[in-house]
Amino acid sequence: MSDRSADAVVVGAGVIGSAIAFELARAGRSVVVVDRLGGPGHGSTSASSAIVRFNYSTWAGVALSWEAKHCWEGWREHLGAPDGEALARFHRTGLVMLDVDAAPKAPTLALFDRAGVPYDIWSPAELATRIPGIDPGRYWPPKRLADEQFWDPPNGSLGAFFTPDAGYVDDPRLAAANLMAAAQRNGARLLTHRAVSAVRRSGDRVTGVELGGVDRIDAPVVVNAAGPWSGAFNSLAGVDGDFTVSVRPLRQEVHQVPAGLPSDAEPVVADLDLGIYTRPAPGGALLVGGTEPACDPLQWLENPDDASPEPTGDVFTAQVTRAARRRPDLAVPNRPRGIVGVYDVTDDWTPIYDRTALDGFYVAIGTSGNQFKNAPVVGRLMAQLIESGGTSTEYVGEHTGLRFDLTAFARNRPVNEASTHTVLG
Ligand SMILES: Cc1cc2nc3c(=O)[nH]c(=O)nc-3n(C[C@H](O)[C@H](O)[C@H](O)COP(=O)(O)OP(=O)(O)OC[C@H]3O[C@@H](n4cnc5c(N)ncnc54)[C@H](O)[C@@H]3O)c2cc1C
Repeated sequence: MSDRSADAVVVGAGVIGSAIAFELARAGRSVVVVDRLGGPGHGSTSASSAIVRFNYSTWAGVALSWEAKHCWEGWREHLGAPDGEALARFHRTGLVMLDVDAAPKAPTLALFDRAGVPYDIWSPAELATRIPGIDPGRYWPPKRLADEQFWDPPNGSLGAFFTPDAGYVDDPRLAAANLMAAAQRNGARLLTHRAVSAVRRSGDRVTGVELGGVDRIDAPVVVNAAGPWSGAFNSLAGVDGDFTVSVRPLRQEVHQVPAGLPSDAEPVVADLDLGIYTRPAPGGALLVGGTEPACDPLQWLENPDDASPEPTGDVFTAQVTRAARRRPDLAVPNRPRGIVGVYDVTDDWTPIYDRTALDGFYVAIGTSGNQFKNAPVVGRLMAQLIESGGTSTEYVGEHTGLRFDLTAFARNRPVNEASTHTVLG
């Protein structure tokens, strides 16, 4: 057995684990990151649509995402990366959230006012002018393609609100690699193609991890940043007994279709009315993802590794045809093109950033398809929590000065009833 030791082991080199490793290393801790895959961001991060937006159902969600946007805008400074290092890039396209009764805008806009997030309110006519080719019709509720009412004419028209500072990051895997490179510049070590197979403990304290029963790493701090595998890893560690919110892996497809758009000419569109979102993509294409409309069955998984990796004709046709209702000039290709990813979903689609009942064992999990954007700040708040021995209860944004309560992300919180119970959180 070859022994190693560190101040902290981070399990998972996705965008979340890489950000935590960076901040812990920057604070002077010796850190080892372990990932069963081949490199940073090769897990669910690689499938991310990487949209940066600020509409969440809680104050903590809005304040966290607004703070994180400033990190993406100054990404090289955030990382302390040398000139010449290739970095992921934030594209500020803005985001339009179409009005739907299921997610009323008043509470969101009140949170924007409090945080200082700029926005405009658009009438249906303004929506049609600002995004040429968009149909502002109201089609609610979202329907399956086989439903004969799918092709019904609109039953009204929709306004929207627009946040000009939103956008997307063009390469989520590279963003994770950037964070890991920054961690390594600060002394962190990365072990790839190694799975953590057991958690070592002494009484109520964690003492390290085992890798395949051959190696072990001794450490007083272990962080579960295992993404969709996090529930299994919590069970392995035996720490999930006092959680009031559970995590489950959910298979998702995001499709890519040619749209002939000039680069970044259009904002991201969050369209709960039809059950989709769209995002500009390189080469004039459009990404089309789903927002878990009630009519579509959710593809829950026992094990994230069971997710079949190819997009299916059914989901592709449903999502892209919905997008074509919103944009009548969009052609629906007859062969699916896109990617499959897995969300790590909590009961209220709000993540868990917390300590656990096992001293020294922390979790940054349940990211519910909506935490890529927040990763740079999640690294910081987790490092603060760990430095405090798990007692810290408030975070203050370095860029915005906004304060939010970390208990909003606690493992034993009441379920967030204000959640949309969709990827919007
Ligand atoms: C299709 C899709 C679209 C999305 N779109 C957006 C979006 O537009 N905006 C947004 O903000 N968020 C979005 N998200 C969510 C965001 O991408 C995730 O919240 C984020 O990437 C999760 O990162 P992670 O580090 O927690 O997980 P991962 O990237 O999955 O990393 C976890 C890592 O842990 C490793 N691991 C697991 N178990 C072990 C073990 N026992 N030993 C060693 N290693 C282990 C895995 O190999 C993996 O690399 C999307 C997600 C998906 C899937």
